Amino acid sequence: MVEAIVFDLDETLAVPDRDRETILEDVTAAAGTPSISREAYLDAHSQNLTKHTREPIFADLLADRETDADAEALAVAYRETIADSLSPIPGVELLLEDLKAAYSVGLLTNGPVRAQRDKLETLGWENTFDAALVTGELEAGKPDPRAFEAILSELAVEAGNAVYVGDNIEADIAGATNAGMNAIQVLKSDGPAPDDRALAHLEQDSIATELPTVLEMLE
Ligand SMILES: [Mg+2]
Repeated sequence: MVEAIVFDLDETLAVPDRDRETILEDVTAAAGTPSISREAYLDAHSQNLTKHTREPIFADLLADRETDADAEALAVAYRETIADSLSPIPGVELLLEDLKAAYSVGLLTNGPVRAQRDKLETLGWENTFDAALVTGELEAGKPDPRAFEAILSELAVEAGNAVYVGDNIEADIAGATNAGMNAIQVLKSDGPAPDDRALAHLEQDSIATELPTVLEMLE
């Protein structure tokens, strides 16, 4: 029996109006910092999943570059630019309200506390979920099972009675299924192929209409 639905945030419920690479270029250009590739950024991000802010990520990235740019200032500029550029996927706000009538609804998002809490605040979603956890507040980030155990514990639900909805194969689909949850994969046009560990696959822009149908089939 499905009692709880837990969502990923970025690229699952909300998307930026510019891609992250462009945002990173805009922010580094404005700060006069040498440009940082998206690949280098993601690598530094993966080393700093449980930090409070993105400052350690930018400190790592700036460490081997000829620059006197300030990691904290860059982290703040990047955070504000991303939060401002974020919009909900069409229909998800109503979807979340509808789901709450039948299920516990949670959020588990990877990233620094300030960065992810800022996004929730900008979206006006501070009180949207029955529980919302940012891995920066936890011992470990997705795909570590401890991250999933933390949100299940907040929602007081067993892993087998919870479904995780996310777009990232490793963090979301592998992570949730290894933690004993069912997983539903959100597909993007430029994203990874459907993974067969997921029970179902939904197109990102039609998650609001497709998810209720998939959940009905799981009943
Ligand atoms: Mg995501």
